[in-house]
Amino acid sequence: MTQRIHNFSAGPSALPLPVLEQAQRELVDFQGTGMSLMESSHRWPVYDKVHNQAIEDISALLSLPEDYQVLFMGGGARAQFALVPMNLLAEGCAAYMTTGRWAEGAYKEACKLGAADEIYNSGDSNHDHVPQPGQCSVPADAAFLHYTSNNTIYGTQFQHTPQAGDVPLVCDMSSDILSRPIDASRFALIYAGAQKNMGPSGVTCVIIRKDLLAHCPDSIPETFNYRNMAAKNSLLNTPPVFPIYMVGLVAAHLRALGGLEAVAAVNQSKAALIYQVIDNSGGFFRGHARKDSRSLMNVTFRLPSAELEAAFVLESEAAGMKGLKGHRSVGGLRASIYNSVPLQSVQALVALMEDFQARKG
Ligand code: PMP
Repeated sequence: MTQRIHNFSAGPSALPLPVLEQAQRELVDFQGTGMSLMESSHRWPVYDKVHNQAIEDISALLSLPEDYQVLFMGGGARAQFALVPMNLLAEGCAAYMTTGRWAEGAYKEACKLGAADEIYNSGDSNHDHVPQPGQCSVPADAAFLHYTSNNTIYGTQFQHTPQAGDVPLVCDMSSDILSRPIDASRFALIYAGAQKNMGPSGVTCVIIRKDLLAHCPDSIPETFNYRNMAAKNSLLNTPPVFPIYMVGLVAAHLRALGGLEAVAAVNQSKAALIYQVIDNSGGFFRGHARKDSRSLMNVTFRLPSAELEAAFVLESEAAGMKGLKGHRSVGGLRASIYNSVPLQSVQALVALMEDFQARKG
């Protein structure tokens, strides 16, 4: 059997082993067609089925109401930082919550393309928290409210969906989509780069409430226009066929596991294991995120010194763990424990943390 590492990377990140194995089996001869899906035209019925099944499985997992459409686009989540205002900010002023680097990136793009206001900024405390319910008031006439549900770099996550009243709610869910059930009807638009919970890099998923499509201006380039993409079921240009196929396999796999309630329960217990070690360490491990804002996807923590942090990373690598070095803007360690990081990987990390403290604490 292939030796698999414990993959704690922030993204691209671990994929479910059964999905990789199915892709391997189907790689050269896709379902008896005599060719790889990578060699298949995106206009052929074989691909059509893959494309539409992926959309169906994502819609089922998220319990999307009928009036929502799933799109597949290019350019990563970062392209959406610009495409959201290009499509939805023809007039008025948009509201942004800056709870991290990515949220800030989205805000900056909006400022280039229209009027945008920052209604929240957690930068003073190096983005160690997200606003709690009721802490942030949204102007009733805002064109939309944009927020980032999980701040990958800082390890913070909204545990609630912000109240936006009648203001359309837009969410960058790149690092926690499909990790827990959501009430999709609260959102006007959700987007996510696939490469954390959904599949490999190369495709971005956009979920849009259909009534918004009417507002997308004709003046923007056609491949950037949600209305054109929706009208062509994301087949306006050649889509990233293979990443979409992989996203479909992951979505089907999550449905087979019991859907997002089941996935969320596992995610809760994985994160709890690490946070417990942090909380019981008497200050040896220090979490970056405030307790009320802790992420179940990215656990960020420091050790008493940079030397100990470097030693911990070295030991983790020797023990078959990858990707634990924290992002430079937070330092320390970051364990990204997305859906497909197995419980056993988290148990291995926790055992190392306890052993390391016993030796060096
Ligand atoms: N938003 C969030 C929350 C992210 O974590 C990332 C990438 N780590 C991005 C946006 C940027 O994604 P991409 O590389 O797909 O543009």
